[in-house]
Amino acid sequence: MSYDVVVVGAGFAGASIAYFLGRLGVKTLIADLKPWDFVGSKPCGDAVGKHHFDELSMPYPKGDELEGIVKGISIYSPSEQHEVFVSGEGFEIHRIKYTQRLLSDAISRGVEFLGGTHFREPIIKDDHVVGVKIWSGGAKEIFSKVVIDASGNARAVVRFLPKSWPVNEELVLGDANIAYREIRVLENHIDNPEVLRIYINNDVAPGGYWWYFPYSKMERTVNIGLGIRGDLRGLHPKELLYKHVFSRPEFKGSKVVESGGALVPTRRPIPSLVWNGIAVIGDAAYVVNPVHGGGKGSSMISAKCVSEAIKNALEVGSTSAKDLWEANTCYMIKYGGKQGSLDIFRYFLQKLSNDDLEFSISKKLVNGNELNEISLRGKFEVGLVDKILKLSSLLSRPSLLLKLRTVVKYMDLIKEHYLKYPSTPEGLNKWLHDLNKILKNYHDSLM
Ligand SMILES: Cc1cc2nc3c(=O)[nH]c(=O)nc-3n(C[C@H](O)[C@H](O)[C@H](O)COP(=O)(O)OP(=O)(O)OC[C@H]3O[C@@H](n4cnc5c(N)ncnc54)[C@H](O)[C@@H]3O)c2cc1C
Repeated sequence: MSYDVVVVGAGFAGASIAYFLGRLGVKTLIADLKPWDFVGSKPCGDAVGKHHFDELSMPYPKGDELEGIVKGISIYSPSEQHEVFVSGEGFEIHRIKYTQRLLSDAISRGVEFLGGTHFREPIIKDDHVVGVKIWSGGAKEIFSKVVIDASGNARAVVRFLPKSWPVNEELVLGDANIAYREIRVLENHIDNPEVLRIYINNDVAPGGYWWYFPYSKMERTVNIGLGIRGDLRGLHPKELLYKHVFSRPEFKGSKVVESGGALVPTRRPIPSLVWNGIAVIGDAAYVVNPVHGGGKGSSMISAKCVSEAIKNALEVGSTSAKDLWEANTCYMIKYGGKQGSLDIFRYFLQKLSNDDLEFSISKKLVNGNELNEISLRGKFEVGLVDKILKLSSLLSRPSLLLKLRTVVKYMDLIKEHYLKYPSTPEGLNKWLHDLNKILKNYHDSLM
């Protein structure tokens, strides 16, 4: 059997690329461990910004694919006495139904779906991935011009590839969050169900946060979860959630509808989304926003960039790293640079004490609109930097002031560096070397 493209994994990233490839008329097979009825199921907060769908011309969730409308997010200080409201439209999406909708669209355009299928290993010939070995009611080999790893944290395909290929960079646990969430039906009515809530408190969720995301279309139903930095041994997000959150009176008598946890990569993207005959998207490519941990929107962006690069590579008749490279220049410009600078910001936030967090939120060092801008652009604008520095200095926080200066400087440096992402694979080693130098200097300066 042979295809132009085989996609391993039909989660949000895999379903998105199947949707795009179907529309581009590329002969595609998409395979997942899960059978059709469960495809897309995954522990998640289910929140996605509306702007992602607009920017990528993706269909909005509708009918029972849509579980809630979002109008903004309130971010609470450790004491919960102070909050910053970030206005912005979004959706609470039904993970299975929306994934199935994307896949159904792709199938209607000729894409083939294979559920209950276990990817086992890639077939490599002359330094080029040429197909996959799978188990689907028996061992099978399938050949293709490109294999796409959309297997999430499993990194099922790339983990088999040589370490020298830049698509195979291992995840360090300190660059990840471990998150656990439950969907619960509460006894009482939820106020402002169109506002998501994020609580920052290092005693409750060190290196992360806990969240309360109501499904506004489903009476009294809410997604509550907690994420912590991945390398904090001895701490477990489920235990912390039960100890600090579910013990609150508003959860008394609530019923658990669904529960589960998973790892979230919260770092800059892998150095390259493509190599000879292989592409990587979604969590397997570390495309999650390092600060808020949302990865659905960026999964769609990585899928769009990779699908277009594949279409063009197929037209020139070669799927080498060089011919697929435009996937990188597309992604790194659209989102990777922002991820890089937010990775710098994430490291800074994870080092702040509860006292600093309380101070920053209560004194409104950054307001909701400004926070939205930082999150969208991965950058502190000059006017904002001046305002924060002035406030911190007026309010005599010299250590915070110093750290902030450093963070802003390195966020800018990283963003500029991603704008210089190489236009061919030959430039990658030098670019990576310079990136690692900037990161090392930054980490040393915040020690
Ligand atoms: C608790 C939690 C809360 C989150 N909240 C949000 C949120 O509110 N908003 C947001 O945008 N993001 C959120 N995220 C992140 C988001 O869920 C992910 O970024 C996104 O789902 C990634 O999609 P994916 O397709 O890359 O991976 P996945 O959804 O993990 O899909 C991978 C697929 O690959 C399949 N697979 C794996 N191995 C194999 C194999 N060997 N053979 C065949 N198939 C295989 C799996 O069955 C799976 O279907 C959250 C994550 C967690 C853990």
